[in-house]
Amino acid sequence: MKQSKMLIPTLRDVPADAEIKSHQLLLRAGFMRQNASGVYSYLPLGKRVINKVEQIVREEMDAIGGSELLMPALQPAELWQETGRWYNFGSELMRLRDRHDREFALGPTHEEVVTSLVRDEVSSYKKLPLILYQIQTKFRDEARPRFGLLRGREFIMKDAYSFHSSPESLDEAYQDMVRAYTNIFRRCGLNFRAVIADSGAMGGKDTHEFMVLSDVGEDTIAFSDTSDFAANIEMAPVVVDYEKSNETPTTLEKVATKDQKTIEEVSKFFNVSKEKCLKSLLFKVDEKYVLIVVRGDHEVNDIKVKNLLEAKMVELATAEETLSILDCEIGSIGPIGVPKEVEVIADHAVQFVVNGICGANEPDFHYTGVNVGRDFMVSQFADLRFIKAGDPSPDGQGTIQFAKGIEVGHVFKLGTFYSEAMKATYLDENGKSQPMIMGCYGIGVSRTVAAVVEQFNDENGMVWPVALTPFEVHLIPINMKMDVQKELAEEIYEHLNSHSISVLYDDRNERPGVKFADSDLFGFPIRITVGKKAEDRIVELKLRKTGEVFEVSVNDLVDVIREKLSSY
Ligand code: ATP
Ligand code: MG
Repeated sequence: MKQSKMLIPTLRDVPADAEIKSHQLLLRAGFMRQNASGVYSYLPLGKRVINKVEQIVREEMDAIGGSELLMPALQPAELWQETGRWYNFGSELMRLRDRHDREFALGPTHEEVVTSLVRDEVSSYKKLPLILYQIQTKFRDEARPRFGLLRGREFIMKDAYSFHSSPESLDEAYQDMVRAYTNIFRRCGLNFRAVIADSGAMGGKDTHEFMVLSDVGEDTIAFSDTSDFAANIEMAPVVVDYEKSNETPTTLEKVATKDQKTIEEVSKFFNVSKEKCLKSLLFKVDEKYVLIVVRGDHEVNDIKVKNLLEAKMVELATAEETLSILDCEIGSIGPIGVPKEVEVIADHAVQFVVNGICGANEPDFHYTGVNVGRDFMVSQFADLRFIKAGDPSPDGQGTIQFAKGIEVGHVFKLGTFYSEAMKATYLDENGKSQPMIMGCYGIGVSRTVAAVVEQFNDENGMVWPVALTPFEVHLIPINMKMDVQKELAEEIYEHLNSHSISVLYDDRNERPGVKFADSDLFGFPIRITVGKKAEDRIVELKLRKTGEVFEVSVNDLVDVIREKLSSY
């Protein structure tokens, strides 16, 4: 393609509201433009990268027997009412009405649509298993759209759904998907991990997230320093063997502690470690209130609370709710003497705290000498806290460290949640009606593009891996006004095109400095400069990644380019 004919609006300055590298570079290099918060146009260079990611995704999905289809973004409310998600998906669901006042959603995901389709079209076990996928625009009214393509409100996703007549068959498809995802992200050149995740609102069990390691990631990955264990911090089980101190239990005392509220303040006030303090949080769990007690140096993991209680919703009680249930403010909560209807559950570590300190459900007072089982009862001890750096790895090998990750893919075993709610059944070998067993598998295509830029850039711009680069070669004549240079450049342009090497030809009448700066910003693997030695049919090659520069005779050009691309 000729650069003069393409829309590539580069920017010299860093756009003010772009906080992270990928967002800045994709805007500066003219790969995309924002249309509204979290809504973007992919300009020609950006679209070429999107196409390449999509192509890799298609190849890997087809290789495991997936077949591509395209379902509508506009989805009738009735389908979402069948699963109840019309009511509990929350404000991320974009809703609208047509001229007849019928309600619709703009699809944030397609479980309802695909399940209704398969329900109508598949009725026998003979047609199962079935893997369907699409690459399509999704809509989610995110609370905080930000970081460019990383969290958009309109974004491109590959979503796949599988339907099975046995759990074993689902297992097989799940493993195939994990392998396909591994291939996809490897082919994109990414440094990533498959981590154990939480199944969240989808109602499933087995689930892995594919995380690209990056400091700008919003997720925290807990991983072992010696084994390949990796889990989203939300999910990592704590397997510490706590030691009981041999301190003798003292008597319970109520002590005045004016203005001491946080664990920090209380531990300083009593001059004890945070491990001696008990932290109590009141949660609203579906329709009831539950008090969760953890050690002062630990943080409550509300996902673990939610999973333990098999709840739909877990949120911290508000100040008003706390006042009406416990008759105190949030900073004074403690587990002693709470009303019977409030269940008290404690983290395992609490069992080992001797003579602890806790809030007295009364302003400016704390209890000391607190011992669980004597001064307060709990309905159960459970793993309710976030894992910490330095904790033993749950697989028994090594200790836990943290890294930040960008979630680019997600695989779920859904089970029969959707098929039961939507009556998607098949007849088994014995003619008996059974709900289909399902899995669902997403990849953020546009997010993956941003993740790649995030991992591959330097101070001059992007550094594309060969598999995703918009063009393999950037061809730059230094001076378009010199006929020898222009003619040789045109010849090379035709030559490379005829050998299926993709090339962007900078045929603009710009100063070399401008052309080179743009070239570094675009970050294609190879730059060819046609300059002084054009008369001798010699050009200069520069490799973007290493900065290596060397001269090549035009006769050898195709071979040298092929060789450099394959070893890039
Ligand atoms: P997140 O936790 O980041 O909100 P999610 O769990 O809501 O992600 P899924 O519902 O599993 O995401 O969607 C599948 C994939 O779609 C994700 O793995 C991610 O790559 C991508 N994705 C989700 N939300 C967005 C978004 N707002 N912008 C861009 N990509 C997204
Ligand atoms: Mg989300």
